[in-house]
Amino acid sequence: MQRAVFPGSFDPLTNGHLDIIKRSAPLFDEMIIAVLNNLDKSPMFTAEERCEMIREALPSVDTSECTMLVEAFSGLTAEFARKSNATAIVRGIRAVSDYEYELRMALMNRRLEPTIETVFLMAGEEYSYVSSTLMKQVFELGGRVDGLIPGLVEEKMRAKQNR
Ligand code: ADP
Repeated sequence: MQRAVFPGSFDPLTNGHLDIIKRSAPLFDEMIIAVLNNLDKSPMFTAEERCEMIREALPSVDTSECTMLVEAFSGLTAEFARKSNATAIVRGIRAVSDYEYELRMALMNRRLEPTIETVFLMAGEEYSYVSSTLMKQVFELGGRVDGLIPGLVEEKMRAKQNR
């Protein structure tokens, strides 16, 4: 049984994240989408809200035979992966600019947990410029983000904005 962890902030979930989830599905039997409860950042959505929106969006993705689980976590990704009995950490690469940071993280995680490999998947080119941060910035300035984030995420962002 091959179990992977796909860690991230997912603040909020984008179609780029969903693209990586779809591409991972045929490679693993089970994948835990692990939502980082990052206490140092001030996120738009709480970890529980982020988990909830991922759970709601998942049925729209073809995840074939792979069982998808969504969990919030805090602390070290490598430790979370070990405790979850995962053999792989999945990360997405959008552009060369992601590479240096991801390489450092992958090497550090390998040092912490030598049996867990980081697997990099290339973003779909249509989402290669999509990040949660950019989506929040454009949305807050009134720009269109439809097609780049799930409709239900856009609704939740609008609800936050109107609060
Ligand atoms: P983090 O704060 O850990 O980078 P993110 O939610 O920003 O969390 O990203 C989680 C993972 O999803 C990362 O591996 C990131 O490279 C990947 N990712 C984010 N956006 C995209 C995208 N548009 N296409 C492919 N992968 C993406």
